[in-house]
Formats: sequence, C-alpha cells, structure tokens
Amino acid sequence: MSAQLSGKVALVTGSTSGIGLGVAEGLAAAGAHVVLNGFGEWQPAAERVRAAGAAHGVRVGYHGADLSKVAEVEALLAHAQAEFGRVDVLVNNAGIQHVAPVEAFPVERWDAVLAINLSAAFHTTRLVLPGMRARNWGRILNVASVHGLVASAKKAAYVAAKHGLLGLTKVTALETARTGVTCNALCPGWVLTPLVQKQVDARAAGDGVDVEAAREALLSEKQPSAAFVTPGQLAALALFLCSDAASEVRGVAWNMDGGWTAQ
Ligand code: NAD
Repeated sequence: MSAQLSGKVALVTGSTSGIGLGVAEGLAAAGAHVVLNGFGEWQPAAERVRAAGAAHGVRVGYHGADLSKVAEVEALLAHAQAEFGRVDVLVNNAGIQHVAPVEAFPVERWDAVLAINLSAAFHTTRLVLPGMRARNWGRILNVASVHGLVASAKKAAYVAAKHGLLGLTKVTALETARTGVTCNALCPGWVLTPLVQKQVDARAAGDGVDVEAAREALLSEKQPSAAFVTPGQLAALALFLCSDAASEVRGVAWNMDGGWTAQ
C-alpha cells in the first residue's frame, strides 16, 4: 500500500541528484508538494519532480542551503515554512563520503561528514517536529545506509555518522511514539549515484581496470545480488513508510541492500 500525499509538503535534503531526487519524484507522484535542496544544477531536478507530480499540480521549490552550516539549515526550514506553510514529510538524505584509514583521515573531512550526514538531520528534525506535533501527523525518513548497521574499512566518519543517524532515528521515534508522527531509517546497499560513481572511478584508477570491471568488483565484494539498488525502489519504500499502513512502523532501520547485511 502506498501513500496518498495530496496537499502534503515534503522537504528532501540533497535532492539535486541520486537517491534524494528519486525519492522527491516518488513523493511528487503521490501528490506532495516538494522543497528540493542540494548543490549543483537544481533546475533539471526541479523539472523532473514537477513532471512526476504534474497530474496533481504539485509545486516544487528549492533552497540551496549548505547543510554543514546550522544557520543555513535554519534558513532552509524558514524558507519551506514561508513558501509552503509547513513540512509534513522530512527526508534527511544529503550525504557525503570520504575514504581514508583512521590514522590518515583528514580532520576537516571527519567534521564535514559528521555535520552533513548526522548533525544536519538533528537540526532539521528539531525544527520540523513542533509543526508535525501540532498537526499530529508527520513522517521523518532518515536515509542512513547499510553502513548504519555494519562497517567497512576506510569509512570511519561515514560509518560513525550513519550509526549515529540510526540512534537519532530511534530516539525521535520513541519521543513521538504516542503521536501521528513516525521516524524511520532507510538503509540502502550500493546504489549507482554520483556518490558511488566516484568510488567506482577511484577503484578503476587504483586497480588499473575499466569502469565496468570496477563496478562489478565493488558489487561482488559486498552485495550478494550483484545488482545495484535503484532510487526508484527506495522511493517506493519511502512511500510505504509515509502510508497509513506504516503508521506503527516506528524507529526501524529498513535495509534494501541486495543481501549485504544478511551475510
Ligand atoms: P549523491 O552524491 O548523488 O547526492 C547527494 C546529495 O546531497 C546531492 O544533492 C548533493 O548536492 C547534496 N549535498 C552534498 N553536500 C551537501 C551539503 N553540504 N548541503 C546540502 N546538500 C548537500 O549521493 P547519493 O548516493 O544519492 O546519496 C544520498 C544519500 O544516500 C546519502 O546520505 C548517502 O550516504 C546515502 N546512501 C547512498 C548509497 C549509495 O550507494 N549511493 C548507499 C547507502 C546510503
């Protein structure tokens, strides 16, 4: 069962590409007005989301807040409130990656990964909750990762942030348990987005193989299905978590990972 979100307002962080864009399209197709956020060219993303929601006449907004800065997160939420009047569905999706061993991990990268992948979700959550509580309805979806559940070498900041995000998800779910607000996490395995393509390219260069071989190596190492999860599949999961059928799904970390964490 999927969600009917006509008249609702969704804010999806990091939605100019990849998973965030796919989820934004899914929410618009279910009727939600959408506020986009993220770096780079945002107009093509806005066009795709508008097209997805055309049948419902959805409105699409954008704010380019840098989520590593608290004042900009606050400006993003103020923009959503001013332009759309509310946020009913919050998708904390923006994320970055940096790969290095712990002892060589650049301190500045550690701070950036923690700020964007974890602290930003705390700030958006604290800012949307009063409105969601007042309306007694809300959905907070945290895009974590299999790396919220298990670790991989050279990803200290990312793994720490994603484990932390699952902690935040559970606490938020407990604090809202007697309300119509739910908070859950999505834990994808490999999804072929710009974030992962960078890792594929680095691997191809490092191993001296072509990009296709690097992709296959990356998948076969961790993901038993040897197939990428798609943003569309994650959007379908997000829509389920927004539906009435999921009103008692609270504080879960739902993996969609081709069997990664079953090993
Ligand atoms: P992506 O690089 O395609 O998209 C990341 C988005 O975040 C972009 O819109 C980017 O502009 C935005 N962003 C980055 N830094 C930002 C900042 N400081 N402020 C605001 N926006 C910022 O990556 P993706 O693969 O779609 O990743 C989305 C989320 O999914 C991330 O949280 C990532 O950790 C998670 N994830 C991805 C995978 C995967 O295999 N791709 C797997 C598990 C989890």
